[in-house]
Amino acid sequence: MDETGMRRALTRIAHEILEKNKGFENCMLIGVRTRGIYLAKRIAEHILEIENVPAPIGEIDVTKYRDDRSGRQELVSNEEPPAAIDIHKKKLILFDDVLYTGRTVRAAMDALMDLGRPQMIQLAVLVDRGHRELPIRPDYVGKNIPTSRLETIDVLLHEVDGIDQVVITQQ
Ligand code: 5GP
Ligand code: MG
Repeated sequence: MDETGMRRALTRIAHEILEKNKGFENCMLIGVRTRGIYLAKRIAEHILEIENVPAPIGEIDVTKYRDDRSGRQELVSNEEPPAAIDIHKKKLILFDDVLYTGRTVRAAMDALMDLGRPQMIQLAVLVDRGHRELPIRPDYVGKNIPTSRLETIDVLLHEVDGIDQVVITQQ
């Protein structure tokens, strides 16, 4: 996936979000860790362009929250302290770069539930690489890329890596 492919996929996802939610009222984008946050920001730009409405963005870091690692999670928000994010009765659209086993998404949902009671949580990912271990399915997918467990997907984003590119690498 190159820059053009990524832009088209994100534009499509922005349209799908607006269609599914009949606009963006009462919605909020939640970016997971580094790259999910940049993807959420790009979606927000598209939504502003398409509907001329600002899309609020929250950020979470769930690296320590996963059930297969030790320790409780940290919920991080760069823009505002977590307590200031009011997710009560909001429709949250969770963003991550790659969906794999689903454990990160489960952890993110746990973290969000600890903050309040959202009306709904939807999931958007740039790449679904398969191998789910939990009953989790994305609502919005940039690209389905079936992988073997020995392969990984490199997601390079302009904001962090200086280039927009998705490639499969062999471990
Ligand atoms: P899961 O928790 O679903 O097993 O893995 C998803 C999380 O791990 C995401 O936050 C994602 O960034 C990262 N991840 C898992 N597999 C890959 C991969 O092949 N490539 C990249 N870039 N990230 C991955
Ligand atoms: Mg990640």
